[in-house]
Order: sequence, then structure tokens, then C-alpha cells
Amino acid sequence: MSQPLLEFRHVDVFYGPIQALKAISLTVNEGETVSLIGANGAGKSTLLMSIFGQPRIARGQIFYRNDDISHKSTHFIATNGIAQVPEGRRIFPDMTVEENILMGSIPIGNRYHKEDKERMYHLFPILEERRNQRAMTLSGGEQQMLAIARALMSRPKLLLLDEPSLGLAPLVVKQIFQTLRELTRAGMTLFLVEQNANHALKLSDRAYVMVNGEIRLSGSGQELLVDPEVRKAYLGGA
Ligand code: ATP
Repeated sequence: MSQPLLEFRHVDVFYGPIQALKAISLTVNEGETVSLIGANGAGKSTLLMSIFGQPRIARGQIFYRNDDISHKSTHFIATNGIAQVPEGRRIFPDMTVEENILMGSIPIGNRYHKEDKERMYHLFPILEERRNQRAMTLSGGEQQMLAIARALMSRPKLLLLDEPSLGLAPLVVKQIFQTLRELTRAGMTLFLVEQNANHALKLSDRAYVMVNGEIRLSGSGQELLVDPEVRKAYLGGA
């Protein structure tokens, strides 16, 4: 039986008078792929960012490996095995591909291991071809691969991804999800925020559906793929 790696217990978050997260409870177990799906503005990014303490949670608790991290610093969280691939990738455009990759080892004291870099090039051969190019010259899909590679350089136990398919062509999205599948097969724990419910649910062991700051539904990826409400709202079908 796998252990909970990340756990939200009744978490509330406010932006001024607006409540963005309402009594959120969810769990991501070690080795699982869990996704959070929902429409624009449902609160998905807020939930992911609250793990890093920005925004701060008003009530409830967030646990990581059974430690309460609700009020820990962003630095503490980044150096203790949680890495994030942020929405919009936020790569460093003027740096080369390789420099961007190496930046990912900062949370572990910049002590990158040569084999980690080689592993990234094995996972994303196109990044090796482009290693000396400035990151701004990459396509959107390549930039997403770079953002994932950079996050993996800190040897995370838990990888958080915010909308990895955003703005990418269908074929590229397929490629990104194939890579995510390889990572899960290798034992990585993934927590994924996505509007692309179809790909996310097919990849995920379990998923949560978020509506207006609340968890509306949860179940296995397979269950939610055939759930009438999910199909109607997020899969473009009845
Ligand atoms: P998207 O897919 O568009 O990123 P989301 O599901 O990730 O949507 P959030 O970005 O978490 O949703 O936003 C949740 C709610 O909180 C929205 O109503 C949004 O307008 C509001 N919100 C988000 N960030 C802030 C902020 N910094 N200040 C005030 N309100 C905010």
C-alpha cells in the first residue's frame, strides 16, 4: 500500500474577499499520477501554488510526507523534493538550453550530476540537438520539454505540472504526455493540473474535478472518463 506523499486537509485560500479554495481535501500517494481538472478560473493554479506558500492558506493544512508544510518557506519546499513546471513554462529566454537545464539543480545546491543531464537528453533528444541554442528560439513544445527537464534536475519526489499542454499542437501534446507516461513508469509521482481532460484522465490513476474553488468529483481516471458530467463539461460530448 503506497503512502500519501501530498495531502490537503480542508484548505481555504482567499484573494482579498474572494475565496479561491474552499475546504479542499485531496491526496496524492507515492508513485501515483493524479490530475486536477476544471474550467478556467476554477482555482487549479491557486491550489498548486499554495503548496509553495504563495498564496498563503487561510485555514486547513498541507502535508508532505506526513510533515505539515502549510507555513514552510518556498525555499524549504523546493529543497525537499517538490519541483514545479509552472504554467507558461517560464524558461530563461536568453540562456542556452543547457544553461536552463542546469538551473534546475539550484534547489539541490547546484550540485548537478552529469548523469542527470544525460538522462534529460535521453528523455528529450531534441534538447541535446539544441543544447547551445538560446531557449527563446525553441518551439512551444520544446520549451515545455525544457521546463520539464529543468524541474527534473532537482531529483524531485513529486513533480507538479500546471497545464503542460497549454497552447501546444495536438501532436506535440501527445508527445508531452508520452514523456509523462515514461516518467510515471519510472516511478515518479505526478500531480497534474490540466484543462485537457482527455489526456490527463487517460494518464492518471486518479483525478479530482474542481468547480468554483471546490472539489466536485473524484475517482479513477477511467471512471471520470466515462462520467456523464465530466464528458459533458470537459470532454466535449454527452
Ligand atoms: P486558469 O486555468 O485560467 O489558470 P485556474 O483554475 O487555475 O484557472 P486560478 O488561476 O487558480 O484558476 O484562479 C481562481 C480564482 O481566483 C479566479 O476567480 C481568479 O480570478 C482568482 N485569482 C487568481 N489569482 C488571483 C490574484 N492574484 N488576485 C485576485 N484573484 C485571483
